Amino acid sequence: MPELPEVETTLRGIAPQLLTHQISSVDISQPQLRWPVSKSLTQLKNSKILSLHRRAKYLLIETEHGHLIIHLGMSGSLRINDPKIPRKKHDHIEFRLSTGKVLRYHDPRRFGAVLFTTGEPSQHKLLISLGPEPLSEDFNASHLFKASRNRKRAVKNLIMDGHIVVGVGNIYASEALFLAGIRPGIAASRLTSRQCNEIVDAIKKVLAEAISMGGTTLRDFVNSDGEPGYFQQTLNVYGRQHEPCLYCTTRIKQKVIGQRSTFYCPSCQK
Ligand SMILES: [Zn+2]
Repeated sequence: MPELPEVETTLRGIAPQLLTHQISSVDISQPQLRWPVSKSLTQLKNSKILSLHRRAKYLLIETEHGHLIIHLGMSGSLRINDPKIPRKKHDHIEFRLSTGKVLRYHDPRRFGAVLFTTGEPSQHKLLISLGPEPLSEDFNASHLFKASRNRKRAVKNLIMDGHIVVGVGNIYASEALFLAGIRPGIAASRLTSRQCNEIVDAIKKVLAEAISMGGTTLRDFVNSDGEPGYFQQTLNVYGRQHEPCLYCTTRIKQKVIGQRSTFYCPSCQK
């Protein structure tokens, strides 16, 4: 599933091919995504692309006539292609560009979304109640400490809650808590402010590293007709149950927390 680093990598990959160019037409071949794709997308004809941003796992493409809000769901991807390359199965939406290239939205499982709004995207119902960006200064130890008070739920569930902080997916939550040396199942209310600081630092480190690794796959998002090359970080604990911890050789444990597989080292994490 595309996580925040893949979305950021997609953004950086496609932005140079889109910025300041015009969308000459929009072709929707499959409107049944997570929400139906509105015909109002055709209003984008002849509108200039002004900016691209990411908010949580949403890509925001600002045009003269409104914003596209794109979510890649479980299996979505965006590619810039030469129009001579035939559309693949599951290329559901094609934006033809004034440069002669095309931007294609591909999504075999169709859990993604391509929405259009003429309003302020930060006020859109999908975005309005999102917590701070993990790599921003608003996500800091005092924010996490405040958010964790009187919460009995597991710390892992707390950091995966998009109202507290966005973009910490299941893999990154396990990895960040390993780096912070904190057990994923402990009650959030037990965290000290120092531990909150360690968790915040670890989340930023894990995500920043994933984004910087994504940089090496940028070329896969442009001028390519292959699948985008989602990257695999070196993982310390995720998916490594029964294998020795890379630091202390204790066997990594797996546990279900909040219905998601969770991995930790029982010796490195207290
Ligand atoms: Zn260990």
